[in-house]
Amino acid sequence: MRPVKKIQPDYLHTLGATSAAKQTTDIHHALIESLGNYCSYCEMPLSDYQVEHLRYLAAWPEVLTLQEWDDLLLICNDCRNHIRVPALNKESAAAMLWPDRDITFSLVNSPFLYELRKVQYIVEEDGQAISSEPRELVFVVANKQAGEKVYEKAVNTITHFQLNMRLEYYNEAAGELRVPLQEERERADNRMFKRTRAWREAEEALQRLKALDNLQEENKAELREMLIKQIAMTAWYSGNWSVWMTVLYQQSRDVELVKAVLDSGEHPFTGLNNEGQAVFGR
Ligand SMILES: [Zn+2]
Repeated sequence: MRPVKKIQPDYLHTLGATSAAKQTTDIHHALIESLGNYCSYCEMPLSDYQVEHLRYLAAWPEVLTLQEWDDLLLICNDCRNHIRVPALNKESAAAMLWPDRDITFSLVNSPFLYELRKVQYIVEEDGQAISSEPRELVFVVANKQAGEKVYEKAVNTITHFQLNMRLEYYNEAAGELRVPLQEERERADNRMFKRTRAWREAEEALQRLKALDNLQEENKAELREMLIKQIAMTAWYSGNWSVWMTVLYQQSRDVELVKAVLDSGEHPFTGLNNEGQAVFGR
């Protein structure tokens, strides 16, 4: 969950005289302009028009006002369908980590970690397993090393949005993920699969880069720059920037490489909060 920085565009201040519908559209666009077209929680690219999420409310805002700006973030359909009840209040929301308020990702000592885990993936119907196969999937997990308080808050965030599919599907001790057939067919939750694909793509990108570094080419530097640009673009499209940063850093220990990827894109990594060296470690 990458930390984001919301910036209110100037045109929002002149909203007073416009209609509620126009105001809602303008705030919608301002959020996307500021944060990029990605879910603030799982980082997936958004493909939906109702994407505003109010921190404390279970009800979805039909009409947006500027008073709500501080509590507005963007949400995808999959996160939206997995929010747990009851709705949050100020107190329960304060016991969670939020991408616009907290450092929710960093290369070192991140409160949220991305982990490739082996699971037995079981599809069941009426409680009976109809298929079972080993799979590797990327889970987002809370980091115990980040301190007790931060750890607990990270757990609460993962639980509230059920970022690793419905909580009851995963039995960590048994290493089993049990998904009902209906849900499997509907592809109701794509988050872990997209995250895992981003992980694999990042690994492959890094391997290509390492292979290039081993070449005896005379214009290697130029080729490297080109490949980094391509890596940046692939990462940008996948949306799962935190997964990309995790793999690139964990498997190369090269902060300069991560910086080069973030800096070199044809596309800006919009909304990313790098303050306090959030992404480059603490
Ligand atoms: Zn999401």
